[in-house]
Amino acid sequence: MRPPQGPVVSLPSVELRASDADEAFRSELAEWLVRELPKLPEMPHREDWPARRRFDTDWQKRLFDGGYAGLNWPKEYGGADRTPTEQLIFFEETTKAKAPYVGVNFVGTLHAGPTLVEEGTPEQKATHLPRILAGDEVWCQGFSEPNAGSDLAALRTRAERDGDDYVLNGQKIWCSFGHIADVGEFLVRTDPEASKHRGISWLILPMDLPGIEIRPIKTTLGSSEFCEVFLTDVRVPVTNRVGAENDGWRVTNVTLKYERGTAFVSELIDSLRLCGDLAALVHDPVARRELGRSLADFDALWSLTKRNVSQSERGVPGPGAMMIKLAYSEARQRFGELCLRVLEREALSIAGNELVEERLRTQSLTIAAGASQIQRNIISERVLGLPREPR
Ligand SMILES: Cc1cc2nc3c(=O)[nH]c(=O)nc-3n(C[C@H](O)[C@H](O)[C@H](O)COP(=O)(O)OP(=O)(O)OC[C@H]3O[C@@H](n4cnc5c(N)ncnc54)[C@H](O)[C@@H]3O)c2cc1C
Repeated sequence: MRPPQGPVVSLPSVELRASDADEAFRSELAEWLVRELPKLPEMPHREDWPARRRFDTDWQKRLFDGGYAGLNWPKEYGGADRTPTEQLIFFEETTKAKAPYVGVNFVGTLHAGPTLVEEGTPEQKATHLPRILAGDEVWCQGFSEPNAGSDLAALRTRAERDGDDYVLNGQKIWCSFGHIADVGEFLVRTDPEASKHRGISWLILPMDLPGIEIRPIKTTLGSSEFCEVFLTDVRVPVTNRVGAENDGWRVTNVTLKYERGTAFVSELIDSLRLCGDLAALVHDPVARRELGRSLADFDALWSLTKRNVSQSERGVPGPGAMMIKLAYSEARQRFGELCLRVLEREALSIAGNELVEERLRTQSLTIAAGASQIQRNIISERVLGLPREPR
Protein backbone atom coordinates (compact mmCIF):
# COMPACT_ATOMS: atom_id res chain seq x y z
CA MET A 1 0.00 0.00 0.00
CA ARG A 2 1.30 3.47 -0.89
CA PRO A 3 1.84 5.78 2.08
CA PRO A 4 -0.67 8.68 2.32
CA GLN A 5 0.34 11.57 0.03
CA GLY A 6 -0.12 14.22 2.69
CA PRO A 7 -3.55 15.60 3.46
CA VAL A 8 -4.66 18.95 2.03
CA VAL A 9 -6.47 19.69 5.31
CA SER A 10 -5.58 23.10 6.72
CA LEU A 11 -7.56 24.85 9.42
CA PRO A 12 -7.04 28.61 9.43
CA SER A 13 -8.97 30.75 11.90
CA VAL A 14 -12.51 31.54 10.85
CA GLU A 15 -14.55 34.74 11.05
CA LEU A 16 -18.19 33.69 11.32
CA ARG A 17 -19.69 36.99 12.46
CA ALA A 18 -21.55 39.18 9.98
CA SER A 19 -20.38 42.80 9.59
CA ASP A 20 -22.61 45.88 10.04
CA ALA A 21 -23.04 46.04 6.25
CA ASP A 22 -24.11 42.37 6.24
CA GLU A 23 -26.67 43.07 8.96
CA ALA A 24 -28.01 46.06 7.02
CA PHE A 25 -28.44 43.78 4.01
CA ARG A 26 -30.27 41.28 6.23
CA SER A 27 -32.74 43.92 7.49
CA GLU A 28 -33.50 45.25 3.99
CA LEU A 29 -34.06 41.73 2.70
CA ALA A 30 -36.29 40.77 5.65
CA GLU A 31 -38.43 43.87 5.03
CA TRP A 32 -38.63 43.12 1.31
CA LEU A 33 -39.79 39.56 2.09
CA VAL A 34 -42.50 40.82 4.43
CA ARG A 35 -43.82 43.03 1.61
CA GLU A 36 -43.42 40.54 -1.25
CA LEU A 37 -44.45 37.12 0.11
CA PRO A 38 -48.14 37.93 0.68
CA LYS A 39 -48.40 38.80 -3.05
CA LEU A 40 -47.52 35.24 -4.15
CA PRO A 41 -50.22 33.09 -5.76
CA GLU A 42 -51.19 29.77 -4.16
CA MET A 43 -48.66 26.94 -4.54
CA PRO A 44 -49.75 24.74 -7.49
CA HIS A 45 -50.36 20.98 -7.34
CA ARG A 46 -47.13 18.94 -7.52
CA GLU A 47 -48.02 17.35 -10.88
CA ASP A 48 -49.32 20.50 -12.59
CA TRP A 49 -46.08 21.16 -14.44
CA PRO A 50 -47.02 24.28 -16.45
CA ALA A 51 -48.35 25.87 -13.23
CA ARG A 52 -45.25 24.87 -11.27
CA ARG A 53 -43.05 26.41 -13.92
CA ARG A 54 -45.13 29.61 -13.81
CA PHE A 55 -45.01 29.78 -10.02
CA ASP A 56 -41.23 29.23 -9.77
CA THR A 57 -40.30 31.59 -12.62
CA ASP A 58 -42.65 34.24 -11.22
CA TRP A 59 -40.78 34.07 -7.89
CA GLN A 60 -37.46 34.27 -9.74
CA LYS A 61 -38.69 37.40 -11.58
CA ARG A 62 -39.69 39.02 -8.27
CA LEU A 63 -36.21 38.31 -6.89
CA PHE A 64 -34.69 39.79 -10.05
CA ASP A 65 -36.81 42.95 -9.90
CA GLY A 66 -35.99 43.32 -6.20
CA GLY A 67 -32.22 43.04 -6.83
CA TYR A 68 -31.96 39.65 -5.09
CA ALA A 69 -31.30 37.33 -8.06
CA GLY A 70 -27.82 36.03 -8.88
CA LEU A 71 -26.46 37.54 -5.69
CA ASN A 72 -22.85 36.60 -6.47
CA TRP A 73 -23.10 36.84 -10.28
CA PRO A 74 -21.54 39.80 -12.13
CA LYS A 75 -23.67 42.95 -12.39
CA GLU A 76 -23.11 43.25 -16.14
CA TYR A 77 -25.11 40.02 -16.64
CA GLY A 78 -27.95 40.94 -14.29
CA GLY A 79 -26.38 39.71 -11.04
CA ALA A 80 -25.86 41.66 -7.83
CA ASP A 81 -22.08 41.20 -7.27
CA ARG A 82 -22.57 40.58 -3.56
CA THR A 83 -20.31 38.69 -1.17
CA PRO A 84 -20.68 34.98 -0.28
CA THR A 85 -21.62 36.04 3.28
CA GLU A 86 -24.52 38.10 1.91
CA GLN A 87 -25.55 35.07 -0.11
CA LEU A 88 -25.67 32.97 3.06
CA ILE A 89 -27.77 35.67 4.73
CA PHE A 90 -30.11 35.49 1.75
CA PHE A 91 -30.51 31.72 2.25
CA GLU A 92 -31.08 32.19 6.00
CA GLU A 93 -33.68 34.94 5.65
CA THR A 94 -35.62 33.41 2.75
CA THR A 95 -35.79 30.05 4.49
CA LYS A 96 -36.83 31.64 7.80
CA ALA A 97 -39.57 33.58 6.00
CA LYS A 98 -40.71 30.37 4.19
CA ALA A 99 -40.10 31.96 0.79
CA PRO A 100 -40.30 29.56 -2.18
CA TYR A 101 -37.25 27.41 -2.91
CA VAL A 102 -35.51 27.89 -6.27
CA GLY A 103 -37.67 25.07 -7.72
CA VAL A 104 -37.72 23.89 -11.33
CA ASN A 105 -34.78 26.04 -12.42
CA PHE A 106 -32.27 24.77 -9.84
CA VAL A 107 -29.95 23.71 -12.66
CA GLY A 108 -29.98 27.18 -14.25
CA THR A 109 -29.54 29.19 -11.07
CA LEU A 110 -27.36 26.85 -9.02
CA HIS A 111 -24.94 25.19 -11.45
CA ALA A 112 -25.38 25.83 -15.21
CA GLY A 113 -25.44 29.62 -14.67
CA PRO A 114 -22.36 29.63 -12.39
CA THR A 115 -20.58 27.40 -14.95
CA LEU A 116 -21.32 29.95 -17.69
CA VAL A 117 -20.08 32.75 -15.42
CA GLU A 118 -16.72 30.92 -15.15
CA GLU A 119 -16.43 29.26 -18.55
CA GLY A 120 -18.87 30.82 -21.05
CA THR A 121 -17.95 33.16 -23.92
CA PRO A 122 -19.13 36.79 -23.61
CA GLU A 123 -21.95 35.96 -26.09
CA GLN A 124 -23.06 32.88 -24.15
CA LYS A 125 -23.09 34.87 -20.90
CA ALA A 126 -25.00 37.78 -22.44
CA THR A 127 -27.57 35.42 -24.02
CA HIS A 128 -28.31 33.16 -21.07
CA LEU A 129 -27.37 34.69 -17.71
CA PRO A 130 -29.89 37.59 -17.67
CA ARG A 131 -32.63 35.24 -18.90
CA ILE A 132 -31.94 32.71 -16.13
CA LEU A 133 -31.99 35.43 -13.49
CA ALA A 134 -35.18 37.06 -14.78
CA GLY A 135 -37.03 33.72 -14.79
CA ASP A 136 -37.26 33.64 -18.59
CA GLU A 137 -35.16 30.51 -19.17
CA VAL A 138 -35.40 27.18 -17.35
CA TRP A 139 -32.47 24.75 -17.60
CA CYS A 140 -32.09 21.01 -17.12
CA GLN A 141 -29.06 18.73 -16.92
CA GLY A 142 -28.28 15.95 -19.42
CA PHE A 143 -25.22 14.33 -17.87
CA SER A 144 -26.24 10.80 -16.76
CA GLU A 145 -26.81 7.93 -19.19
CA PRO A 146 -28.06 4.38 -18.56
CA ASN A 147 -24.43 3.17 -18.33
CA ALA A 148 -22.79 6.36 -17.14
CA GLY A 149 -23.84 7.58 -13.68
CA SER A 150 -21.12 7.29 -11.06
CA ASP A 151 -18.70 6.61 -13.88
CA LEU A 152 -19.90 9.70 -15.74
CA ALA A 153 -16.90 9.83 -18.07
CA ALA A 154 -18.14 6.54 -19.63
CA LEU A 155 -20.88 8.54 -21.41
CA ARG A 156 -21.51 7.57 -25.03
CA THR A 157 -23.87 10.15 -26.55
CA ARG A 158 -22.06 11.07 -29.77
CA ALA A 159 -21.60 14.54 -31.23
CA GLU A 160 -20.17 14.41 -34.75
CA ARG A 161 -18.97 17.58 -36.41
CA ASP A 162 -20.79 18.50 -39.65
CA GLY A 163 -19.85 21.98 -40.87
CA ASP A 164 -20.81 24.53 -38.22
CA ASP A 165 -22.99 22.03 -36.33
CA TYR A 166 -22.62 18.99 -34.12
CA VAL A 167 -25.01 16.12 -34.86
CA LEU A 168 -26.08 14.40 -31.63
CA ASN A 169 -27.20 10.79 -31.19
CA GLY A 170 -27.70 9.00 -27.88
CA GLN A 171 -29.73 8.72 -24.70
CA LYS A 172 -29.75 10.56 -21.36
CA ILE A 173 -31.57 9.57 -18.18
CA TRP A 174 -32.66 11.08 -14.82
CA CYS A 175 -32.97 14.51 -16.42
CA SER A 176 -34.81 16.49 -13.70
CA PHE A 177 -37.51 18.84 -15.09
CA GLY A 178 -36.39 18.04 -18.67
CA HIS A 179 -40.01 18.18 -19.84
CA ILE A 180 -40.44 21.82 -18.85
CA ALA A 181 -36.93 23.11 -19.56
CA ASP A 182 -35.97 25.49 -22.38
CA VAL A 183 -32.26 24.68 -22.40
CA GLY A 184 -29.99 21.90 -21.12
CA GLU A 185 -26.36 21.50 -20.07
CA PHE A 186 -25.43 18.36 -21.99
CA LEU A 187 -22.28 16.25 -22.04
CA VAL A 188 -21.42 14.57 -25.31
CA ARG A 189 -18.54 12.56 -26.72
CA THR A 190 -16.76 14.50 -29.44
CA ASP A 191 -13.74 12.17 -29.75
CA PRO A 192 -14.51 8.45 -29.37
CA GLU A 193 -10.82 7.57 -29.94
CA ALA A 194 -9.48 9.60 -27.01
CA SER A 195 -9.27 8.22 -23.46
CA LYS A 196 -12.67 8.53 -21.80
CA HIS A 197 -12.02 11.74 -19.81
CA ARG A 198 -10.49 13.50 -22.80
CA GLY A 199 -13.06 13.15 -25.60
CA ILE A 200 -15.98 14.96 -23.92
CA SER A 201 -17.54 18.38 -24.67
CA TRP A 202 -20.05 20.49 -22.64
CA LEU A 203 -22.91 21.84 -24.79
CA ILE A 204 -25.81 24.28 -24.40
CA LEU A 205 -28.76 22.37 -25.87
CA PRO A 206 -32.07 24.14 -26.71
CA MET A 207 -34.65 21.52 -25.68
CA ASP A 208 -37.05 22.26 -28.57
CA LEU A 209 -34.67 21.20 -31.36
CA PRO A 210 -35.94 18.61 -33.87
CA GLY A 211 -34.85 15.06 -32.93
CA ILE A 212 -35.23 15.47 -29.13
CA GLU A 213 -37.77 13.14 -27.49
CA ILE A 214 -38.52 13.51 -23.79
CA ARG A 215 -40.22 10.76 -21.75
CA PRO A 216 -41.08 11.40 -18.08
CA ILE A 217 -40.34 8.65 -15.48
CA LYS A 218 -42.43 8.21 -12.30
CA THR A 219 -40.70 8.33 -8.90
CA THR A 220 -41.71 6.47 -5.71
CA LEU A 221 -43.58 9.61 -4.68
CA GLY A 222 -45.73 9.26 -7.82
CA SER A 223 -44.19 12.39 -9.29
CA SER A 224 -42.85 12.65 -12.84
CA GLU A 225 -40.02 15.12 -12.35
CA PHE A 226 -37.39 12.92 -14.02
CA CYS A 227 -37.12 12.27 -17.76
CA GLU A 228 -35.36 10.11 -20.25
CA VAL A 229 -34.11 12.16 -23.20
CA PHE A 230 -33.56 10.53 -26.59
CA LEU A 231 -31.43 12.37 -29.17
CA THR A 232 -31.69 11.41 -32.85
CA ASP A 233 -29.69 13.43 -35.39
CA VAL A 234 -30.09 16.62 -33.33
CA ARG A 235 -28.19 19.51 -34.95
CA VAL A 236 -26.58 21.96 -32.51
CA PRO A 237 -24.40 24.90 -33.58
CA VAL A 238 -20.74 24.49 -32.62
CA THR A 239 -20.97 27.95 -31.01
CA ASN A 240 -23.12 26.31 -28.29
CA ARG A 241 -20.06 24.52 -26.92
CA VAL A 242 -18.75 25.82 -23.57
CA GLY A 243 -14.98 25.45 -23.27
CA ALA A 244 -12.74 23.88 -25.91
CA GLU A 245 -13.70 20.78 -27.90
CA ASN A 246 -12.81 17.64 -25.88
CA ASP A 247 -12.12 19.75 -22.77
CA GLY A 248 -15.60 19.11 -21.38
CA TRP A 249 -14.44 17.03 -18.42
CA ARG A 250 -12.67 20.06 -16.94
CA VAL A 251 -15.82 22.18 -17.49
CA THR A 252 -17.92 19.37 -15.94
CA ASN A 253 -15.85 19.60 -12.77
CA VAL A 254 -16.68 23.30 -12.57
CA THR A 255 -20.40 22.37 -12.76
CA LEU A 256 -20.04 19.58 -10.16
CA LYS A 257 -18.20 21.92 -7.79
CA TYR A 258 -21.39 24.04 -7.62
CA GLU A 259 -23.80 21.10 -7.79
CA ARG A 260 -22.20 19.35 -4.80
CA GLY A 261 -21.38 22.52 -2.83
CA THR A 262 -23.64 25.56 -2.67
CA ALA A 263 -26.69 23.79 -4.13
CA PHE A 264 -27.62 22.26 -0.73
CA VAL A 265 -27.49 25.34 1.48
CA SER A 266 -31.20 26.24 1.44
CA GLU A 267 -32.19 22.63 2.08
CA LEU A 268 -29.82 22.49 5.03
CA ILE A 269 -31.40 25.53 6.67
CA ASP A 270 -34.85 24.13 5.96
CA SER A 271 -33.86 20.93 7.81
CA LEU A 272 -33.60 22.95 11.03
CA ARG A 273 -37.19 24.15 10.52
CA LEU A 274 -38.40 20.56 9.91
CA CYS A 275 -36.72 19.42 13.14
CA GLY A 276 -38.83 22.02 14.93
CA ASP A 277 -42.00 20.71 13.22
CA LEU A 278 -41.22 17.13 14.23
CA ALA A 279 -40.34 18.13 17.82
CA ALA A 280 -43.98 19.04 18.41
CA LEU A 281 -44.97 15.41 17.64
CA VAL A 282 -42.24 13.50 19.51
CA HIS A 283 -42.94 12.33 23.05
CA ASP A 284 -40.90 9.13 23.37
CA PRO A 285 -37.55 9.92 25.10
CA VAL A 286 -35.51 7.69 22.75
CA ALA A 287 -36.94 9.40 19.68
CA ARG A 288 -36.38 12.80 21.29
CA ARG A 289 -32.71 11.89 21.74
CA GLU A 290 -32.50 10.93 18.06
CA LEU A 291 -34.16 14.18 17.09
CA GLY A 292 -31.59 16.02 19.19
CA ARG A 293 -28.87 14.21 17.28
CA SER A 294 -30.42 15.28 13.94
CA LEU A 295 -30.66 18.85 15.10
CA ALA A 296 -27.01 18.77 16.22
CA ASP A 297 -26.00 17.29 12.83
CA PHE A 298 -27.74 20.07 10.89
CA ASP A 299 -26.46 22.73 13.24
CA ALA A 300 -22.88 21.50 12.84
CA LEU A 301 -23.28 21.39 9.04
CA TRP A 302 -24.60 24.93 9.05
CA SER A 303 -21.49 26.00 10.99
CA LEU A 304 -19.34 24.10 8.49
CA THR A 305 -21.10 25.93 5.62
CA LYS A 306 -20.31 29.27 7.24
CA ARG A 307 -16.73 28.17 7.72
CA ASN A 308 -16.51 27.15 4.04
CA VAL A 309 -17.85 30.53 2.98
CA SER A 310 -15.49 32.38 5.29
CA GLN A 311 -12.55 30.42 3.87
CA SER A 312 -13.57 30.92 0.23
CA GLU A 313 -14.06 34.68 0.81
CA ARG A 314 -10.44 34.85 1.94
CA GLY A 315 -9.26 32.67 -0.97
CA VAL A 316 -8.35 29.74 1.31
CA PRO A 317 -9.52 26.47 -0.26
CA GLY A 318 -10.71 24.20 2.54
CA PRO A 319 -11.77 20.55 2.53
CA GLY A 320 -15.23 21.32 3.97
CA ALA A 321 -16.86 21.99 0.61
CA MET A 322 -16.07 18.44 -0.51
CA MET A 323 -17.69 16.95 2.60
CA ILE A 324 -20.89 18.88 2.84
CA LYS A 325 -22.90 16.91 0.25
CA LEU A 326 -22.02 13.54 1.79
CA ALA A 327 -22.59 14.61 5.38
CA TYR A 328 -25.78 16.54 4.66
CA SER A 329 -27.46 13.85 2.53
CA GLU A 330 -26.80 11.13 5.12
CA ALA A 331 -27.94 13.31 8.03
CA ARG A 332 -31.12 14.21 6.18
CA GLN A 333 -31.77 10.55 5.38
CA ARG A 334 -31.48 9.63 9.09
CA PHE A 335 -33.93 12.41 9.84
CA GLY A 336 -36.33 11.07 7.16
CA GLU A 337 -36.28 7.63 8.79
CA LEU A 338 -36.94 9.18 12.19
CA CYS A 339 -39.96 11.08 10.78
CA LEU A 340 -41.59 7.86 9.64
CA ARG A 341 -40.87 6.01 12.91
CA VAL A 342 -42.26 8.84 15.01
CA LEU A 343 -45.41 9.14 12.95
CA GLU A 344 -45.90 5.32 12.79
CA ARG A 345 -49.52 4.42 12.01
CA GLU A 346 -50.50 8.03 11.81
CA ALA A 347 -48.29 8.25 8.73
CA LEU A 348 -50.69 5.99 6.82
CA SER A 349 -53.54 8.40 7.29
CA ILE A 350 -51.71 11.61 6.46
CA ALA A 351 -50.20 10.76 3.09
CA GLY A 352 -48.96 13.93 1.49
CA ASN A 353 -47.77 15.34 4.80
CA GLU A 354 -44.35 16.92 4.42
CA LEU A 355 -42.85 14.77 7.20
CA VAL A 356 -44.09 11.51 5.64
CA GLU A 357 -42.84 12.43 2.19
CA GLU A 358 -39.53 13.29 3.81
CA ARG A 359 -38.71 9.56 4.22
CA LEU A 360 -39.31 8.78 0.53
CA ARG A 361 -37.72 11.91 -0.88
CA THR A 362 -34.55 11.65 1.18
CA GLN A 363 -33.80 8.20 -0.25
CA SER A 364 -32.60 9.91 -3.41
CA LEU A 365 -30.29 12.40 -1.68
CA THR A 366 -27.44 9.94 -1.24
CA ILE A 367 -27.57 9.18 -5.00
CA ALA A 368 -28.29 12.55 -6.65
CA ALA A 369 -25.29 14.71 -7.64
CA GLY A 370 -22.89 11.82 -6.95
CA ALA A 371 -23.56 8.76 -4.77
CA SER A 372 -22.18 8.61 -1.21
CA GLN A 373 -19.66 5.91 -2.11
CA ILE A 374 -18.25 8.15 -4.82
CA GLN A 375 -18.13 11.13 -2.46
CA ARG A 376 -16.19 8.95 0.01
CA ASN A 377 -13.72 7.99 -2.72
CA ILE A 378 -13.23 11.67 -3.60
CA ILE A 379 -12.68 12.69 0.03
CA SER A 380 -10.30 9.82 0.73
CA GLU A 381 -8.22 10.49 -2.39
CA ARG A 382 -8.29 14.29 -2.65
CA VAL A 383 -8.61 15.40 0.98
CA LEU A 384 -7.03 12.63 3.05
CA GLY A 385 -4.43 11.65 0.45
CA LEU A 386 -5.22 7.92 0.67
CA PRO A 387 -4.27 5.55 -2.18
CA ARG A 388 -6.42 5.84 -5.30
CA GLU A 389 -9.19 3.33 -6.04
CA PRO A 390 -7.82 0.54 -8.30
CA ARG A 391 -9.06 1.00 -11.90
C1 LIG B 1 -33.06 13.09 -7.29
C2 LIG B 1 -32.09 12.86 -8.43
C3 LIG B 1 -31.98 13.84 -9.41
C4 LIG B 1 -31.12 13.63 -10.49
N1 LIG B 1 -31.08 14.56 -11.50
C5 LIG B 1 -30.26 14.39 -12.55
C6 LIG B 1 -30.25 15.33 -13.63
O1 LIG B 1 -31.01 16.31 -13.64
N2 LIG B 1 -29.42 15.11 -14.66
C7 LIG B 1 -28.57 14.04 -14.69
O2 LIG B 1 -27.79 13.94 -15.65
N3 LIG B 1 -28.57 13.10 -13.71
C8 LIG B 1 -29.40 13.25 -12.65
N4 LIG B 1 -29.43 12.31 -11.64
C9 LIG B 1 -28.62 11.09 -11.78
C10 LIG B 1 -27.47 10.98 -10.78
O3 LIG B 1 -26.43 11.85 -11.11
C11 LIG B 1 -27.02 9.51 -10.79
O4 LIG B 1 -28.11 8.75 -10.28
C12 LIG B 1 -25.81 9.27 -9.91
O5 LIG B 1 -24.67 9.86 -10.49
C13 LIG B 1 -25.53 7.75 -9.73
O6 LIG B 1 -25.50 7.12 -10.96
P1 LIG B 1 -26.40 5.81 -11.25
O7 LIG B 1 -27.80 6.11 -10.86
O8 LIG B 1 -26.14 5.38 -12.65
O9 LIG B 1 -25.87 4.72 -10.23
P2 LIG B 1 -24.62 3.76 -10.44
O10 LIG B 1 -23.45 4.57 -10.91
O11 LIG B 1 -25.03 2.59 -11.25
O12 LIG B 1 -24.32 3.31 -8.96
C14 LIG B 1 -25.04 2.26 -8.32
C15 LIG B 1 -24.41 2.04 -6.96
O13 LIG B 1 -23.06 1.57 -7.11
C16 LIG B 1 -22.17 2.39 -6.35
N5 LIG B 1 -20.88 2.58 -7.04
C17 LIG B 1 -20.72 2.89 -8.35
N6 LIG B 1 -19.40 3.03 -8.63
C18 LIG B 1 -18.72 2.80 -7.46
C19 LIG B 1 -17.34 2.82 -7.09
N7 LIG B 1 -16.39 3.12 -7.97
N8 LIG B 1 -17.03 2.56 -5.79
C20 LIG B 1 -18.01 2.28 -4.88
N9 LIG B 1 -19.33 2.25 -5.17
C21 LIG B 1 -19.67 2.51 -6.44
C22 LIG B 1 -22.88 3.74 -6.23
O14 LIG B 1 -22.44 4.48 -5.12
C23 LIG B 1 -24.35 3.30 -6.09
O15 LIG B 1 -24.62 2.97 -4.76
C24 LIG B 1 -30.31 12.46 -10.57
C25 LIG B 1 -30.42 11.48 -9.57
C26 LIG B 1 -31.32 11.66 -8.52
C27 LIG B 1 -31.43 10.58 -7.49
